[in-house]
Amino acid sequence: MKLTLDVATKRFSEKFSASAKLAQDATKYIPGGGSRSIVKVGPHPIFVENGEGAYITTVEGHKLCDFHNNFSTNVLGHNHPEIRKALEEVCNQGWSFGNPTKYEAQLARILCERIESVERVVFMMSGTEACMASATLARAFTGKGKIAKLEGGYHGTSNDFWWSIHPDGPSFVNCGLSTNPKPSPESLGVPEALRGNTITMPQNDLDTCVRIIRENAKDLAAVILELQTGAGGLITLERNFVEGLRAVTRELGIVLIFDEVISFRMDEGGMQNIYDIKPDLTCMGKAIGGGIPIGAVGGLDEIMQLNETGQVFHSGTHHGHALSCAAGVACLTNFTQPLIEKMNQQGQKIKNDLLQFVTEKNYPVNLTGIGSAIGFEMLDQAGRSINSCRDIMTYCDDTASQTFNFELITRGYLPMWSRGQAVLCTPLTDDNIGGFIETAKEILEEMY
Ligand code: PMP
Repeated sequence: MKLTLDVATKRFSEKFSASAKLAQDATKYIPGGGSRSIVKVGPHPIFVENGEGAYITTVEGHKLCDFHNNFSTNVLGHNHPEIRKALEEVCNQGWSFGNPTKYEAQLARILCERIESVERVVFMMSGTEACMASATLARAFTGKGKIAKLEGGYHGTSNDFWWSIHPDGPSFVNCGLSTNPKPSPESLGVPEALRGNTITMPQNDLDTCVRIIRENAKDLAAVILELQTGAGGLITLERNFVEGLRAVTRELGIVLIFDEVISFRMDEGGMQNIYDIKPDLTCMGKAIGGGIPIGAVGGLDEIMQLNETGQVFHSGTHHGHALSCAAGVACLTNFTQPLIEKMNQQGQKIKNDLLQFVTEKNYPVNLTGIGSAIGFEMLDQAGRSINSCRDIMTYCDDTASQTFNFELITRGYLPMWSRGQAVLCTPLTDDNIGGFIETAKEILEEMY
């Protein structure tokens, strides 16, 4: 008998029944039972008791091998002794002051030393705020108002960027043709008056993007992109596409922003170091705080100076918080290039092995991504090539994808099941990687 979504959902619900109860109880006080829409995919979220190294333990007492890592944040896994030590040190000193602490400058220095394009940097509490601040800096620097983003790009939950993260496939009625895209709001509540402030462009289609950028150049403050997307489906931008965007933005005096909130983890100098392309501004978050809330934007000194002169106001009660910065310093000090490379190779092994397997079997499964992030999409038919979020939305078989993801979890491996992605952390052993591959193969054989 084929493995179906009904069977997978039933097994998931039986295994995580205590979580179902907690989720149900929480809805009395929290709409939907939790404050992150993204964790509410499937029958219910899985509540966690604790995390250690590459594993989490759920409230039911099940140990799951973590291929989720809080949406890529936990590069060193859970409860890393050095991060823990840094947090304890801060706690012993007190943790909320209206004054700076030494940790903020230490983290700033590490980021400037690691990322060549980052000459100076400021902090905030989230990646969302980092992207918002980058847009403000770009507008102030250029004196222009509009921002261009790629379809499928996720830059947090603010009105500037909440457009066409998941263009509404398969007919794309609200988004137009990919060669002439129209921004479609990702959520109710995005002010209609802002339509037109954000311009959307197709991924990996340089000619169309260059045409759109030239047409809008006199109003365009910035182009923002993720070198490899996450929330909008895992698409890696082609290097010559990014190089083309770098050239045209430089020519036209438009600020180029790389959102490296996720992709920073791919190299000690961020994914931009792999591409060898320098943006004007870089947004960061997640890993740079060692698991404590953080965001940062850094880049060319001539832009960042606007914060120094006060022409651009930058403030927040918890900006540069000692806990986030101390944890970030401990995390990055231990997140070294050899470890990053080992993890990237493990990611490549998962993709290579599974790609070979699905190709041999002629299964309709696509694997995307480079480095320590892996995208796996179940598609309508085998052999499709996926180059943009529109391709994913057009060809993805959601039922099959959910079946695969729920089964992985029930069998002990926790992917980012809302997205059909996995992301690694350094404590994962080669045995863990092998176990993930074999389990994925078993599930696919039962599904197809
Ligand atoms: N940019 C990217 C690329 C992200 O993946 C995220 C978070 N998933 C953000 C920005 C927003 O970060 P945060 O959730 O910390 O606000």
